[in-house]
Amino acid sequence: MLTIGVDVGGTSVRASVVDPQGEILETLRRPTPATGPELNAAIAGTVRELADRHPVAGVGLAVAGFVSEDRRVVRFAPHLAWRHVAVADELAERLGLPVVLEHDANAAGIAEQRFGAAMGAGVAALVAIGTGIGGALVIRGEVFRGAYGVAPELGHLRLVPDGRPCSCGKRGCWERYCSGTALASTAAEFLATDPDAGTLLAATDPAALTGVDVARAAEAGDPVARRAVDELARWLGEGLALVADVYDPEVVVIAGGVSDSAHLFLDAAREHYAASVTGAGHRPLAAVRVARCGDMAAIVGAATLAREHVAATPNPA
Ligand SMILES: [Zn+2]
Repeated sequence: MLTIGVDVGGTSVRASVVDPQGEILETLRRPTPATGPELNAAIAGTVRELADRHPVAGVGLAVAGFVSEDRRVVRFAPHLAWRHVAVADELAERLGLPVVLEHDANAAGIAEQRFGAAMGAGVAALVAIGTGIGGALVIRGEVFRGAYGVAPELGHLRLVPDGRPCSCGKRGCWERYCSGTALASTAAEFLATDPDAGTLLAATDPAALTGVDVARAAEAGDPVARRAVDELARWLGEGLALVADVYDPEVVVIAGGVSDSAHLFLDAAREHYAASVTGAGHRPLAAVRVARCGDMAAIVGAATLAREHVAATPNPA
């Protein structure tokens, strides 16, 4: 059975036909329109074009935003025009195909648990480190969403009391210390306290510094950038220890743009995690692995959820 996974992002809508082994057969990409009705039309048009060429049985949408408990409604998505829109039902009616909706991190978690770095793991956590942290928990093969569909907000676990302010309104959230943005903040702090430190980063205005700049400089052996990466490793390990204390995962998958630089920090993060977790030295530790499904993970996961939904429903359309 073939299904379509759609990643509805702030800049583009990407849709792929995916087979039961998680392989992608064809992908189309469109710019994301500015209004809700145009966005629905763009998704429907892209799906129809793919469905004309492939016998597809259902559609899965992956969205960066809050999805209702029944996963039919997008409540709020910061980078999209949808506000309390029954996206799944509207598109199902328009397309005559079953449509499922999922938060993009959860969809990526499903892809990694079915086909990727956490394949077959009974309890798997996904930590997607980009500008912030996106998290997912896949427990006994199912996404864990909590009672009201908002779990897990791993990025906003408070690691540092009275720490750096976060866009969520709190201070000291994990993603303020462990993300691409955090890498730049940490390096800028080091530069501010020691402006004479010999560093490649001194050439860039600290306010314009990005996580990629810091990762590149660390790659080149720059001492200040290496210290910033070491800080990220420490906070990644500390956060993983919290996640492990609550969920005791078998595998933690590190995904997102920052995972491209995992070779710079993953061993150190594992050491911090092993040292900080409760019962350190007396319990099995989660395997901490880099994601394998790349930036197609949410698409593959959404298509997989659509396939499993169709398979479990007697008359899905
Ligand atoms: Zn926060």
